[in-house]
Amino acid sequence: MSIAEYNMECSGRVHSYESCGTVDGPGLRFVVFLQGCPLRCQYCHNPDSWSASGGRVVSVGEVVNEIVKYRSYMRFSGGGVTLSGGEPLMQPEFTAALLRECRTRGIHTALDTSGYAALRHSAQVFEYSDLVLLDIKAIRDDVYQTLTGRELHNTLETAAYLASRNIPVWIRHVLVPGLTDDDIMLGELADYCASLGNVSQVEILPFHQIGEYKWQELKLDYKLTGIYPPNSERLANAVDIFLHRGLKVRA
Ligand code: SF4
Repeated sequence: MSIAEYNMECSGRVHSYESCGTVDGPGLRFVVFLQGCPLRCQYCHNPDSWSASGGRVVSVGEVVNEIVKYRSYMRFSGGGVTLSGGEPLMQPEFTAALLRECRTRGIHTALDTSGYAALRHSAQVFEYSDLVLLDIKAIRDDVYQTLTGRELHNTLETAAYLASRNIPVWIRHVLVPGLTDDDIMLGELADYCASLGNVSQVEILPFHQIGEYKWQELKLDYKLTGIYPPNSERLANAVDIFLHRGLKVRA
């Protein structure tokens, strides 16, 4: 069996697709949401994507057949395919095979990840990623653990690895009032992003409550009830902090 045949038969668990995404990378994107996530972010919109045994089992070939239907609008808009989740690095062989097959077909590849995976597994995936959307949820370990239930270490190791390979990165940061919008912490995160050297954009994503109903449906303990989205002044303040480090910012 050739590598290409092996790749196309490799199977994984997919949560859902979005055929015309506009927020997960440049241009119009075909977004594949992978099933399974090791984090438990308090603001997660998709807690139904957490379980590694949920979703639908599909082969790389099936997903690629779906993706190529949209190749013309991807080309026209400067877009491509984005693998998101859940956490795509939970299924590294499947994710790497899928990105490789997309790249072979001339499709721009992006990976949307928290970076929470051991590099010995995830490095193979980065080899086929033209862009990594790296979500740094907090720059201090205690805050990261409160927010996600996991430690920060792997994410920073991932960021350092991507910088060492000069793989283009967009940093994403969700601004949650009272949790991740402290000015000093934002400054520490901005300093860190500026130090990496491969960050072409920072995206400040305002927290909002659209996921709360899913937590209720799944009878999960939602901790952010009553937290409002950041107001325009706090959002502008966060943007300024990153701009002052010479970073390109989108909010
Ligand atoms: S990393 Fe994403 S999918 Fe996983 S818990 Fe956090 S927000 Fe949800």
